[in-house]
Amino acid sequence: MSKELGFSNQDIQSKEFLEVMTGNSIIENSKPFAMCYAGHQFGNWAGQLGDGRAINLGEIKNWALQLKGAGPTPYSRTADGLAVLRSSVREYLCSEAMHHLGVPTTRALSLSLTGDQVLRDMMYDGNSAYEKGAIVSRVAKSFLRFGNFEIFAARNDLKNLKILTDYTILHHFSHLGNPCKEVYLKFFQEVTNKTLEMIVHWQRVGFVHGVMNTDNMSILGLTIDYGPYGWLEGFDLGWTPNTTDKKHKRYRYGNQPTIGLWNLYQLANALYPLIDEAAPLEEILERYQRDFKTESLHMMRSKLGLTLAKKNDLLLIESLEDNLQAIETDMTIFFRLLSSFNSKQAEKGIELIQDAFYSPEQLVGKVLTDWKHWFVSYAKRLERETTPNEEREQLMKTKNPKYVLRNYMAQLAIDKANKGDISLVEELYQVLKKPYEEQPEFEHWFTKRPEWARHKVGCSMLSCSS
Ligand code: AMP
Ligand code: MG
Repeated sequence: MSKELGFSNQDIQSKEFLEVMTGNSIIENSKPFAMCYAGHQFGNWAGQLGDGRAINLGEIKNWALQLKGAGPTPYSRTADGLAVLRSSVREYLCSEAMHHLGVPTTRALSLSLTGDQVLRDMMYDGNSAYEKGAIVSRVAKSFLRFGNFEIFAARNDLKNLKILTDYTILHHFSHLGNPCKEVYLKFFQEVTNKTLEMIVHWQRVGFVHGVMNTDNMSILGLTIDYGPYGWLEGFDLGWTPNTTDKKHKRYRYGNQPTIGLWNLYQLANALYPLIDEAAPLEEILERYQRDFKTESLHMMRSKLGLTLAKKNDLLLIESLEDNLQAIETDMTIFFRLLSSFNSKQAEKGIELIQDAFYSPEQLVGKVLTDWKHWFVSYAKRLERETTPNEEREQLMKTKNPKYVLRNYMAQLAIDKANKGDISLVEELYQVLKKPYEEQPEFEHWFTKRPEWARHKVGCSMLSCSS
């Protein structure tokens, strides 16, 4: 990221860089600011929010630069504007991991300790403790959120709503033409497409955002605000990493596409005054549902190495999902191992993916029969493809990552970093830069979640408190 911004190695080792990235000095002639936005949180209108602990430093080569955790802003409300090392390591590693996985995301430029101690009640259970304060500097073409549009619509401030929308179009969607009613609709269509594309990627890699509130939805369709996110280990459409969401599971893996649409409805409502016609907006929203089915099918085909479209592919995919849920199966390991499947040897399928099962001894009776059937159907389906096995394997390995940031991996890195040793943060950063490559020296990260991590705070339970 630093290269992209034009920094040399010398620059990033300079005192000035350090001072700016830790919020101790500001770039000459710049005017840092915090943004005001609103949002729907967990399905309810939350009114005005804003950058409570993010500060925009300015732009470098059209990239916006923010510090997260550098202290209070006008929108901090009663909170401290700070961030802790735990959440900062998580944001730093995960946003970079996502980038290298090919998922649209904000980026991380630096991670620093502040030297402050920050009080946090991590699980909201009255057990507050001091943690190390930290700052992530993050980068994106824009940090605008759906909530930035919602705030003006809610205040009926159409003048500023128009200024903001025109600005966004001129700076980030200029290919759509000069702002006018027709272009506003095109803009909404494009935000819809980008949001959809981002969520299809999330589903592909097994990422669960955890807090898909409209204030956490980027207008550019970037994954933003890494909080209580998680990665599917056992494939489960009903899984959410966020303890605050345990009851209703609104932001569970299988619900992300629907929530994306729900959020787009809120954005459509916010843009409506500029368009003054509901039908074309509704049409775009309805198309999202159809497009999602198509894109999702396309994505699943690519995970299975299917280059042709055949009538029963959806059935094959649905029965696979049933099987994956019937016995705890590690999503990442399953798809990666499946890449080496030989369509001439269907009977060897189960043996091939053994390592993906958390309790292989449970693979008996109907579960076993269903898996065997599935491999036979998959082998038959592959026979209709024209790509040879070896070529398909290479193709599948570009869609099915070998390394993702499992929750326990982040937690191990955090535990060490809290003791002053950042070597594991560095190691994971290196591994996650090449998630689709074999990297035999890092094979130890291609393993299922260890049992100790199953119910550990930070590994299976996360909260917004960061
Ligand atoms: P989130 O759900 O983490 O995106 O946060 C929701 C809102 O709370 C945002 O407007 C944040 O800026 C704000 N917020 C979260 N943590 C803090 C904090 N430590 N200090 C000030 N504001 C915060
Ligand atoms: Mg947020």
